[in-house]
Amino acid sequence: MMRSQFTSVRSYIGCLPMGADLYESLTTIAREENLRAGRITGIGAVTQAVVAYYDQTEKQYSSVKLDHGMEIVSLLGNISIKDGDPFVHAHITLADRDGKVYGGHLMPGTLVFVCEVFIDVFEGEDLVRTLSPETGLALWLPLAESTRS
Ligand code: ZN
Repeated sequence: MMRSQFTSVRSYIGCLPMGADLYESLTTIAREENLRAGRITGIGAVTQAVVAYYDQTEKQYSSVKLDHGMEIVSLLGNISIKDGDPFVHAHITLADRDGKVYGGHLMPGTLVFVCEVFIDVFEGEDLVRTLSPETGLALWLPLAESTRS
């Protein structure tokens, strides 16, 4: 049984300004436009990045700063509601001059050199994050009961 159904209603397409904080910019757009369900995709380049890894045992994030320019191979994220406000969750894959790839959970401190972004907005009931005790993360409801083992 599907928990939620959404209709694609519009898209925002554009570049983020050089020097902008990537995560903060996406959050500002989501909150200013009151985007309550969305899909974020993007490509471009950063001058530095901060990405995080979630330790599943410790149930906490640890972050790493990558202090050099890299290509954004893939920016992929979503917008939903956490604590009553639009909330961005995004992951990023980055490549250096040798084609070596880094990535993780996008954190503040990732600075845009150029970033071409699509934000696809959906309408439906609010997509709300609630704390999942088993993961320690604020998650959506399961899509279907049958997916749980
Ligand atoms: Zn994440």
